Amino acid sequence: MLTRLSAADLVSLVKKKSASVPEIVIAHIERTLTVDPQYRAFLSIDPDLALKRAEEVQRKIDLGEDLPLAGVPVAIKDNISAVGFPMTCGSRILKGYQPPYDATVVERIESMGAIIVGKANLDEFAMGTTCENSAFFPSRNPWDPARVPGGSSGGSAVAVSAEMVPVALGSDTGGSVRMPAALCGLVGFKPTYGRVSRYGLVAYGSSLDQIGPLTRSVEDASLIAAAISGHDPRDSTSRPDPPIEHSGLKSGSLAGLRIAVPRELTGDAVEPGILSLFQKSIQDFEKEGAHIESIDMPSLQFGVSTYYVIAPAEASSNLARFDGIRYGPQVKAPGHVGQTAMTRGQLFGHEVKLRIMVGTYVLSAGYYDDYYVNAQRHRANLVAEFEKVFQDFDFVLSPTSPSVAFPLGSDTHDSLALKLLDLCTIPANLGGFPSISLPCGLSDGLPVGLCLTGPVGTDEKLLKAAYAAEQTADFLGQRPPEI
Ligand code: GLN
Repeated sequence: MLTRLSAADLVSLVKKKSASVPEIVIAHIERTLTVDPQYRAFLSIDPDLALKRAEEVQRKIDLGEDLPLAGVPVAIKDNISAVGFPMTCGSRILKGYQPPYDATVVERIESMGAIIVGKANLDEFAMGTTCENSAFFPSRNPWDPARVPGGSSGGSAVAVSAEMVPVALGSDTGGSVRMPAALCGLVGFKPTYGRVSRYGLVAYGSSLDQIGPLTRSVEDASLIAAAISGHDPRDSTSRPDPPIEHSGLKSGSLAGLRIAVPRELTGDAVEPGILSLFQKSIQDFEKEGAHIESIDMPSLQFGVSTYYVIAPAEASSNLARFDGIRYGPQVKAPGHVGQTAMTRGQLFGHEVKLRIMVGTYVLSAGYYDDYYVNAQRHRANLVAEFEKVFQDFDFVLSPTSPSVAFPLGSDTHDSLALKLLDLCTIPANLGGFPSISLPCGLSDGLPVGLCLTGPVGTDEKLLKAAYAAEQTADFLGQRPPEI
């Protein structure tokens, strides 16, 4: 069945002319139309546009063009601009907005022959950990539709996990690619900050945001990362490095790697079922010749609080552009100040307003030093501590999430508890480090993820290690029970 194949396999089918691009795209759209009403991964799909573009790609192939992603259907998180699709960011404040230009990542994958089938659900403006903050509806976890898929790139994860598409793009500001990947049994990769252009990604926390792929294998994650990375003059924080190199992926091994496991990320906060799978993975790594050592990283205890000052501060500034005048629907009120206040008050959701208020507060005169400057100091300490660890170790390893997917609407996870779930993913964003989540097993039938993080710029080495780990993890090929 075409919908069970990886992106790498689809590309080679097209190359061998064993399947056409329209045939592949139709199979994925048919599956999406059948199963998405149950899982709700998508905010919009456009079968006609996808088919039209599939035919164009097929024509180019027939003329002899070599397109490295020809025939790969892709879902795009709905905070990334793609011409032809409305973009809501999961918010009522952008309902009906049509972006006038493509994000660099969209431009790149489309020029390589990938076909965008639709825009995936997310927590409003990527603020959340469960996908329940979408203004429209929550997406459902294919491993158990009564549970959350994780967030904020929840729709992207669901689309890949339920085999509507082989790959999706998400954005990761504090874990939003890796968290839903872990909860849905997928691979989620956050590249080094600056390796993938943020041009066309609606900014949440600009010093933290990075686009990354969600896939069912490390090979596909590497294939897509190679396609979307590389310097972009339109993003001032883009690194000058060449694109991520995919070709050496399978040459890696765990033998001889030195891996640190911070005690702060494997303590009481982590569920016992997750800890026992984590211990088993450590043994598997050691069997393959890796050297694993438990270490103390005291700065990690301040990671979550540091992030939840800096990210809202940046968000409060970034979201100022949604003023009820320039974009989206308007709530009419006398005067432009009134109109801005009414539009933002009525059309932003609760979590977004909360973060704008927190962000504005920590940046305000009188509190700036106590909160924002202090958080930046903690950020610098944390980064310095990681850099010190990376002098002795290749990678840092932890679980991705302290919890498996929990029931939708679960009141055991209040706003603060949800934020604490980001404990293991946030450090990579604060440091700009590349970080990947890969599945390591099931706890009571629900997927558990491992998070491997490396020094800035070591994306290829990290992907190679993840590929080697995936071969030992005994998870490849496992699928949600009902799909
Ligand atoms: N859960 C984190 C937050 O709510 C991370 C979100 C993200 O990475 N976009 O901010």
